[in-house]
Amino acid sequence: MSIFKRIFHLDQYDIIMIIKRALVYILAMSILYTIFSHFIYQDRLSEYKKITYITDEANANFISFSINHYLLDLKDDLLVLKNSNEMAAYISQQDDYNTEEVEKMFLRFSENKTDLSQIRIIDNQGNEKIRVNHINEPELVREENLQDKSNRYYFEQTILLDDGEVYISHLDLNIENNEIDIPYQPVIRISTPLYNMNSLIGILVVNLDAKYLLSSVFASQQTNFSDNISLFNDQGFYIYNSDESILYGHIILTRQNFQLSSNFPEIITELNSNQDHTSYDDKYYTLIKIDPFSSIHAESQNGEWLIVHESDLNEVVPSQHIIFTLDIYDISILGLVWLVIIFASYLAYIHKKDGFKLNVVRRIADETSDSVVISNEKKLIEYANKSFSDFSGYQKGEILNHHTRILKSHIHTQSLYDDLWKKVTEQGYWSGILWQKKKNGLIFPKHMMIYEMRDEKSKRHANYVSLSKDLASSNTFITPNTSLSDNHAFATYLKDDLLKYQINLPAFNETMSFGVIALTLIHNEEHNKNDDLNIENVFIAFVKESFKEQLSFIVKISQMTYIIGFHNYKNESNAKEHIENVLSQRLLHVIHEKHAYVLTFKAGVYITSKFHDDYISMISHAYTTLRYINVYDQTQIAYYSEDMAKTIARGMQIAHYLQNGISNNEFYIVYQPQIDTIKNKIIGYEVLLRWHNDVLGHVSPYEFIRIAEDKGLIVDIGYWVIEEAFKHCHQMNLQGKKLSINISPIQFLDQKLASEVSSLAAKYQIQLADIEFEVTESVLVTDFNLAQNRLKTFKSLGISIAIDDFGTGYSSLQYISKFDVNKLKLDRSFIKDYQPGDKLLIAKHVINLSNDLNIKVICEGTETIEQINYLKSIGAHIFQGYYYAKPMILSEIKTFEQSFK
Ligand code: C2E
Ligand code: CA
Ligand code: CA
Repeated sequence: MSIFKRIFHLDQYDIIMIIKRALVYILAMSILYTIFSHFIYQDRLSEYKKITYITDEANANFISFSINHYLLDLKDDLLVLKNSNEMAAYISQQDDYNTEEVEKMFLRFSENKTDLSQIRIIDNQGNEKIRVNHINEPELVREENLQDKSNRYYFEQTILLDDGEVYISHLDLNIENNEIDIPYQPVIRISTPLYNMNSLIGILVVNLDAKYLLSSVFASQQTNFSDNISLFNDQGFYIYNSDESILYGHIILTRQNFQLSSNFPEIITELNSNQDHTSYDDKYYTLIKIDPFSSIHAESQNGEWLIVHESDLNEVVPSQHIIFTLDIYDISILGLVWLVIIFASYLAYIHKKDGFKLNVVRRIADETSDSVVISNEKKLIEYANKSFSDFSGYQKGEILNHHTRILKSHIHTQSLYDDLWKKVTEQGYWSGILWQKKKNGLIFPKHMMIYEMRDEKSKRHANYVSLSKDLASSNTFITPNTSLSDNHAFATYLKDDLLKYQINLPAFNETMSFGVIALTLIHNEEHNKNDDLNIENVFIAFVKESFKEQLSFIVKISQMTYIIGFHNYKNESNAKEHIENVLSQRLLHVIHEKHAYVLTFKAGVYITSKFHDDYISMISHAYTTLRYINVYDQTQIAYYSEDMAKTIARGMQIAHYLQNGISNNEFYIVYQPQIDTIKNKIIGYEVLLRWHNDVLGHVSPYEFIRIAEDKGLIVDIGYWVIEEAFKHCHQMNLQGKKLSINISPIQFLDQKLASEVSSLAAKYQIQLADIEFEVTESVLVTDFNLAQNRLKTFKSLGISIAIDDFGTGYSSLQYISKFDVNKLKLDRSFIKDYQPGDKLLIAKHVINLSNDLNIKVICEGTETIEQINYLKSIGAHIFQGYYYAKPMILSEIKTFEQSFK
């Protein structure tokens, strides 16, 4: 078995499986074989029987003919005797002489006819007159031994006949002195009456020793019965049997006592009664009737003889018990068949197993999100899965039989590849980060594993399998709307992994400037809706065209974010000028394959003339800039500054602690009064959030609110603020004063806002008419219908709406007036630098228009009486600012209100 194992690489499980399989096959085969052989057997059997019966019939005809012929001869002999001169003399005169002459003639005759055991003359009284016996030698029976045969049937029958007629007896035994002769001697008697002129004087009888007849007929070459052949009389008793050990059994009709047994009376009865052949056990019997006496009697009175042929079916037709009665030959054949079956099972099993394995492997390879590429020893690609096609842009058909160098990015040094292949050859695998080039020329970082698969037998390497994960699209790294911690991960990734593989840039000249742009494309379907376009291809073509030889690389780091490296500028301002030129408009107008596309983008740029071998930090700076404008700046293009990096770093810290601000009870709210100088009254309070963290101390909402927004924490925090303010409401004795709550644009879009506020109002029994929402104008410009619906909902609940920081966005007052708003909050920036004598034209314009439109204006951040007085002079009368009060905690309100009076 161990050799077997070694040859075929089979384990115990395989062998069991193969044997199981073989057993199933053998069983099935055996069943089929049994059924099949049964039919074959039946078919052959009936064929055999048919042939046997035909042959037997022919043989029987021959036997019948032979016997008849024999008996006909005998009849002739009898008539020759009767018609002899001696007999003629004897018939006319039975004197001594004539008697003696007849006796002599009988002896002579008998001499030549050994088959005649007796020749006799019986007189008309039944007494024997002359008898010649032929046992060994013909001999005349003495007178005193002659007997009275008057009671014998053959005598009785013969004396009834006319002259010249012949009587033939059935087969009988010789009787001597009323005793059956032993050994049994079957005889047939033929006799004829002797008339002298019409008067019967006696009969002439010859006894045929039937033994001669039968053995001569049955032993004849022409009767080729192969097996047991027996002759029965019509009673089913033996007349003749080829088996000499079986005694003759004759029925002598008149001597029932002497009948001997027949071997198979029931078979004979059955055969005789209704059919001429039958099977019994493993024997087949045919029965054919012959009439041995038809030549002598047209209608035989002596009945028929039955020739029964017995053959052993087992000998002629192979046994039907093929499975359990096997001989050595059968067993060896069967063994051979089994071996063939087992071998076939083995082949089938191995084939199936391999096929299964192959299928499984292929399925896994096809389905996996990792790229799988298999190349041969010449590194020609033999297989690539779907992920690979998706990643690389190469269709399977395009890439097959190409050298793997087609994927080389050219950013790694050759020594990296040398090391890589060395490791693969020595250790069988390599893993690490490798940048690969896609069909469109983009390069990507991939985490790769390259395995060498050796042919077990030849020990030559046969295949290389590479599995690779696309780092750029992997979740571990950044996506366009990623959060700060992901940025951190990206930075770490750049530093830890990419640094190991120095990007192989064109040789830098220390006097040259170079830089990196991190750029996010904003897919604007409005502009490009008609084309089935691949934005990426369009963009890549645009970048290549714009930077030409100055382009070092383009790397895709996430869905729509690319890092573009460029070099070879005379100085920084030269580089900046070119970049500004390329990115000059808010929209990139790109002509690609005769189609015009408009792409919007955000870009962080880093330009330097200091030589870096730390190229990764340049990428990192550009990317940091992009992150900065995404979170803090909202501008479209920015150039890197150290402050941005610091802000980003602090932002990451803030984001970290902010997560647990609510649960750690780090928030509280303060109130800043709003004063109507005409009514000389406090008309409301703005609710302002405060955050104190043990590590960071007090953090300004200006700083943490946008981070909370970026991290998606603002919604929970916003509800916390609303609930907290509602809790305070009753203690505030509002009396028509409004509580003004800042609603972040992100929360403004939260569908649950109206229902949450309603249920909180119900919970704390708050009149929503006491509540005002401060929203920035940005929420009104993105989606007009949505904004209007939201505002309507809030208004229907009784909530007033104030537009915060008015004037800092791009919306006009006309636009705002389309919405049902109660209040504008003139941003502090318009007031803050006021010097006596200043005109504050914008403020004046806003105040005038608002008054015309019947919208209240509140001036934020008023710190000095000069500001207030001037603002009053241009039509303002509602103020909020340090001049009146800084934001205060709840308990301070009472004191403030008292002092205000
Ligand atoms: P904002 O809504 O414009 O709030 C007015 C800001 O101006 C407040 O700063 C307030 O303390 C400050 N301020 C008031 N009077 C004067 C003044 O005379 N001089 C100067 N220099 N500043 C004055 P704060 O509380 O730091 O809030 C900053 C910003 O944070 C707010 O600007 C608001 O946009 C946001 N914010 C504050 N609380 C919340 C809040 O609960 N929810 C949301 N979504 N944003 C809030
Ligand atoms: Ca506000
Ligand atoms: Ca404001």
